[in-house]
Amino acid sequence: MNENPANSRCLNCDTSDSEMPLISIRYSGRPLWVCSKCMPVLIHETDQIKTKLETGDAR
Ligand SMILES: [Zn+2]
Repeated sequence: MNENPANSRCLNCDTSDSEMPLISIRYSGRPLWVCSKCMPVLIHETDQIKTKLETGDAR
């Protein structure tokens, strides 16, 4: 399980799930979180966020 609350932070802005709704995503087989504010970034600026996806900085 990947339900560790310590990992529930937006990969882009590091917002925790107590501050913003987080959406669970997957990239390269890894579960990651993105907050609702950063969701448009993920959709429209994929190249910009891709570095963070690939470094797996999903704290
Ligand atoms: Zn965010």
